[in-house]
Amino acid sequence: MRKDDPLDSVFETFLSTPTLFKERDALRPTYVPDRLPHRDQQIRYLGQILATALKSGIPSNILLYGKTGTGKTAVCKHVLQRLKEKSSELGLSLHYCYINCHIVDTNYGVLRNLCESLDLNVPITGLAKSVLFTKFRAALDLRDTLFVIILDEVDRIARKNGDETLYNLTRVNTDLKKAKISLIGISNDLKFKESLDPRVLSSLSEEELVYPPYKALELKDILDERAKTAFCESIVEPSVISLCAALAAREHGDARRALDLLRVAGELAEREGKNKVTESYVRAAKNVIERNTVLEVVTTLPLQAKLVLFAIYLLEHMELKQIVTGEVYDCYYDCCRELGVDPLTQRRVSDLINELDMLGIVNAQVVNLGRYGRTKKIRVAVHLKQLESMLTADTQIARLRDFIPQFKQKHLNQLHG
Ligand code: ADP
Ligand code: MG
Repeated sequence: MRKDDPLDSVFETFLSTPTLFKERDALRPTYVPDRLPHRDQQIRYLGQILATALKSGIPSNILLYGKTGTGKTAVCKHVLQRLKEKSSELGLSLHYCYINCHIVDTNYGVLRNLCESLDLNVPITGLAKSVLFTKFRAALDLRDTLFVIILDEVDRIARKNGDETLYNLTRVNTDLKKAKISLIGISNDLKFKESLDPRVLSSLSEEELVYPPYKALELKDILDERAKTAFCESIVEPSVISLCAALAAREHGDARRALDLLRVAGELAEREGKNKVTESYVRAAKNVIERNTVLEVVTTLPLQAKLVLFAIYLLEHMELKQIVTGEVYDCYYDCCRELGVDPLTQRRVSDLINELDMLGIVNAQVVNLGRYGRTKKIRVAVHLKQLESMLTADTQIARLRDFIPQFKQKHLNQLHG
């Protein structure tokens, strides 16, 4: 054994510290718990609509809405699982296919998944969608079954690829002789409906339900139950659960965020060899999670949006008292010139600033300049140093690292001259 091997001590420390988790996976987003507190009403509603299947009817198509982490996916999977059990008890045939359109985000992909759930082999690419659809319909109609299709995050596919497949799926029952299908669409985006073809919308949303955000006390119940499954006894202080619940309630009542806080807090405590999860680990977890969220958003921005953000960063870095839209544009313009990128119009840049504001990376506040009209006061809303390193991870933006825009030069001259 090498004396200076750093991993030895890492492994030794890990093995000699107490195990905090009884079932770590119970805190992961993919885990579906047996009980879903505070979703009785939603479970009952979905159950009532789908119960039609138990008397060989075709359940109405359903559209479920709600912000992320309000239990839509969990409720759906839970109800379908129970329905399937009940159906087989009664000797009825029921299939369901769950597709997350955030992952499978093409019409071809959806059709391929549907075929595969009927044990049809389909190449990854190459067939015409119409051929695929016909194959699916023919294979389905060999069975005397109800086929429930759950399209989770369905807005992704409609927005990216149009609603052709959705349209075809809402029509397929008329061509089927033995089998029947029923659709459940789930969306995190409350405005999604506006972008759908009205014909698709009316058949997809025969029934509709909005999932409200969880309140802090409801999140507390959810976390309490999950903590009992996930952690060994008396590892988690009671105030930890309340804090996770309160923080997530502020964050639009997101159960996923609440569970993430608890999991990461546990992992941080474990890493430090502690045998208790305390409030300070929850606060540390909050920072880790927020940083990761910002990182994901910033790194996936298109170049133009990154340039606008970089311009705001530069201005903030100069410690101007007030940053307004016009200055951002001038600075952005200089950056584009430096990189040989065509600058967008001021109007488009203003839109991009709004988008950055909605993403929570900057704060843009409208201020009235009296007879000079209105402008926006802009501030970076995240850690400045971290933002710099996230932006300069982009090879193009990295070329601007030591760049002094003409505009900034002008300001410096004013300050010092
Ligand atoms: P959505 O699909 O609305 O974004 P999910 O159903 O994926 O939300 O829920 C997010 C996380 O929170 C999942 O891990 C899920 O198990 C959990 N969760 C949501 N609602 C409840 C509930 N009422 N009881 C227990 N866990 C829940
Ligand atoms: Mg979901």
